[in-house]
Amino acid sequence: MKKTTNAPAPMRFYCDLFGHNYEMTKKVTKHVKEYTCKCCKRQLTTNGNGKLTELTPKFQEINNILEEIYTRRMMRLKNKTLTSSIY
Ligand SMILES: [Zn+2]
Repeated sequence: MKKTTNAPAPMRFYCDLFGHNYEMTKKVTKHVKEYTCKCCKRQLTTNGNGKLTELTPKFQEINNILEEIYTRRMMRLKNKTLTSSIY
């Protein structure tokens, strides 16, 4: 069960007036990151074009896959440098 983030009305009003106060909450890959507004908890992510877009469940799924591929590749890279430094 997942509840949609329900921000208190004054906070959302503040965001409407002054804009969102985004903070990076997750680094998916070198280029893809997730952001959350500190005020109303609205979430954004970088899409394939490098632009910010609403973090929908679909994007969340894509990001999870991206993250997995990315960390796996990073681990392999690390292993490679480790072995090459031994010899
Ligand atoms: Zn906001």
